Amino acid sequence: MPSYAFLKKQYLPLADANLNIMTNFMHYGTGVFEGIRGNWNKDHKQIYLFRLKEHYERLFRGCQVLNITLPYTVDDLCKITIDLVNKSGFTEDIYVRPLAYKSSEALGVRLHNLESDFLAFVFPWGPYLDTDRARCVVASWRFPTEVPRQKLTGLYITNALAKSEAVSAGFDEAIMLNAAGYVTEGSGENLFIIREGKIFTPLTTDGALTGITRDTVMKLAKNELGLETIERHVERIELYAADEIFMTGTAAHLTPISEIDRRKINGGEIGPITHKLQKLYADVIQNKNLKYSSWCTPVYKK
Ligand code: PMP
Repeated sequence: MPSYAFLKKQYLPLADANLNIMTNFMHYGTGVFEGIRGNWNKDHKQIYLFRLKEHYERLFRGCQVLNITLPYTVDDLCKITIDLVNKSGFTEDIYVRPLAYKSSEALGVRLHNLESDFLAFVFPWGPYLDTDRARCVVASWRFPTEVPRQKLTGLYITNALAKSEAVSAGFDEAIMLNAAGYVTEGSGENLFIIREGKIFTPLTTDGALTGITRDTVMKLAKNELGLETIERHVERIELYAADEIFMTGTAAHLTPISEIDRRKINGGEIGPITHKLQKLYADVIQNKNLKYSSWCTPVYKK
């Protein structure tokens, strides 16, 4: 199966989707990206794109920050994504990477007087963290909260520094603090802690991304387990004292954390609330829980 791309208003094989090396966003991080999952349901023989519209609504919020004006609406981008995945014809879990970017072939650090465009591509992608229990470490790199918290490509360099620092020290993922020392999130995931039956997650104003999986898990915890998630400052020390901790992300799904800074969480085992949420989430994204079907967009026409 070839992977397809949408570039400069055309669908083409991913292998042929190239950009000029002077393209502005490559040099200054002037792009906004998304990550959308298509989850394969083998019984339905269908790929379901999860919360498609919400991803493009977030993309447009990032575009607003970078002064990127696109010749498309949210609905146009949803349709392009469905067409792209349909063309590629995969029968496994896939990932779509949309990018809105400063497309002028022009150098110079600025946001004004530059054209903008949109591209996307699809490819098969299994579990991002490749572990059922992540071992994490708090990064020495602080998250820059003064920059608006969106999926801006240039902003991800701190995350990349933190991730590589963690992996080179033998861990799976990094957890970042902000300049004030509060916990923000993983390098590509939001973070949740559970203490005495209560769920807490860092504030978006502390630097946590407005994660779509974060929102999904908060809704599932409330509707299905009767547990309200409390958004508040989270201190590093609370990580060590948590009963359960897990991370969420489109790529990472819901991944339990077994260890932080070499301290085992719940004896290194998956805790009961994490386990229930993991199961609920896995069913919802494959459209196996009809109550949440409106979050799942089918790709293939029957
Ligand atoms: N935080 C960061 C830094 C991320 O890159 C991601 C992945 N998009 C997330 C959190 C999770 O967001 P979502 O659930 O929308 O994928």
